[in-house]
Amino acid sequence: MVRPVMKDIFFLNQKSEPATKADKQVAEDLLDTLKANEAGCVGMAANMIGVKKRIIVVSMGFAYITMINPVIVKKFGAYETEEGCLSLVGVRRTTRYKDIEVDFQDLNFKKQHQKYSGWIAQIIQHEIDHCEGIVI
Ligand SMILES: [Zn+2]
Repeated sequence: MVRPVMKDIFFLNQKSEPATKADKQVAEDLLDTLKANEAGCVGMAANMIGVKKRIIVVSMGFAYITMINPVIVKKFGAYETEEGCLSLVGVRRTTRYKDIEVDFQDLNFKKQHQKYSGWIAQIIQHEIDHCEGIVI
């Protein structure tokens, strides 16, 4: 189900809680909402649809990835960049890492460990920031 995009900064500044199997519908709604906003958005975190749980979805162009309780365990190659956000107007400067390794659970709550680099890594870092209540 497509949900409205949350733009309340007070809400978005709050840290999300760990997601559980009870939140599977949230993950599905988040993916539906990302697909509906794909023209202006490459990733979303659950608090962007009003649910403070640690779930993100990322468009990889050819496929989507859902990450439940993602944690960046390694990061290399810091660089400065500018990013926009569906919940905010304009772009902001931030530091990102070129290569990251992430621990997360997939939609079946199976543990995963993956490496990402470049653009996809940048989107993942942006969405994990949302889970921490960081809105750049
Ligand atoms: Zn954002």
